[in-house]
Amino acid sequence: MSRLIVKKKCTGCGQCLPSCRKGAIQFVSEFPGGYGKKTAKVLYQKCTLCGVCVEVCPHHAIVLVR
Ligand code: SF4
Ligand code: SF4
Repeated sequence: MSRLIVKKKCTGCGQCLPSCRKGAIQFVSEFPGGYGKKTAKVLYQKCTLCGVCVEVCPHHAIVLVR
């Protein structure tokens, strides 16, 4: 089944967040308690695989895997 993965090169810039109309992008911290780098995470239950965030990400950190 296809799904999106966010690669380690995500900088946490946040540009993908408003691009998702399904609210399927969340930001998660590297360490518990909100510490460390915050990066994007795709909520698979909500994602429709529309691909908008893939186009928006300036760092090519979101990729569709089949
Ligand atoms: S996935 Fe891309 S657009 Fe989204 S926070 Fe990471 S680097 Fe920025
Ligand atoms: S592919 Fe579409 S629905 Fe899925 S996270 Fe990206 S913008 Fe949201």
